[in-house]
Amino acid sequence: MPVKGLGAYDDQNIFARILRGEIPCRKVFEDQFALAFHDINPQAPVHVLVIPRHRSISFADFTANASQAEIAGFFRAVGAVARELGLEAPGYRLLANMGEDSGQEVPHFHVHLFGGQPLGPMLARPAG
Ligand code: 5GP
Repeated sequence: MPVKGLGAYDDQNIFARILRGEIPCRKVFEDQFALAFHDINPQAPVHVLVIPRHRSISFADFTANASQAEIAGFFRAVGAVARELGLEAPGYRLLANMGEDSGQEVPHFHVHLFGGQPLGPMLARPAG
């Protein structure tokens, strides 16, 4: 179910539990700022999620409330993950859902990293 509104950070959300090691993940990268792992329901041949260690509900929360070091460290980590996965030459797509209209489901900020094939149009056309 998409996240409705932006309440307080929920320490029991699935990505918080993955960060604490309570739930397994197929890890591809970690450093002091970020953890990256394969999406459980991939939408492309490569579909990796990169999440900050900072307790942020969303992109809006992260960019408003994380420190400069956490923000810079996180986005450097996203770049490092793409590089380490060999995606720079063929290219890749980054996507972050934010709030209800986007369909964000997990209330811990995350960036989707897609690659491994030509990715087609950026957005599906609305029906009608
Ligand atoms: P959102 O819609 O919030 O932007 O994306 C959430 C993503 O998290 C979805 O692509 C979904 O497949 C993925 N996901 C949800 N639960 C888990 C999980 O337990 N493990 C992993 N690896 N991915 C998950």
